[in-house]
Amino acid sequence: MAEQYACPTTPPPHWRDRAACIGEDPEIFFPLSDSLAAGADARAAMAICRRCPVLLDCRAWAVEHGEDDGIWGATTAPQRRALRRATGDTLAAPAYQRGRTGHQDG
Ligand code: SF4
Repeated sequence: MAEQYACPTTPPPHWRDRAACIGEDPEIFFPLSDSLAAGADARAAMAICRRCPVLLDCRAWAVEHGEDDGIWGATTAPQRRALRRATGDTLAAPAYQRGRTGHQDG
């Protein structure tokens, strides 16, 4: 979600700089498997996401980049794959089927 900034010489802050998960335990955002995504840790992560001011930016980034691990924007990996399928995105396949692994920076 783009914001307007008056000063052309100062870059706008990245949405991640305003993330509610800054300082939170990263392990609750990365359950060991999709089947654990509905567990207590994932619910705690989603509760943090739901009060996050950049939830939509985060979710859009994760969907657009085919992020297959963890909770992003209060969604699980299967939920993001469903969003990609619904929009006809070629990233709908899991990362391991696309030959991509690891966490990416945006
Ligand atoms: S929506 Fe959740 S994962 Fe994304 S930046 Fe906010 S708190 Fe972090």
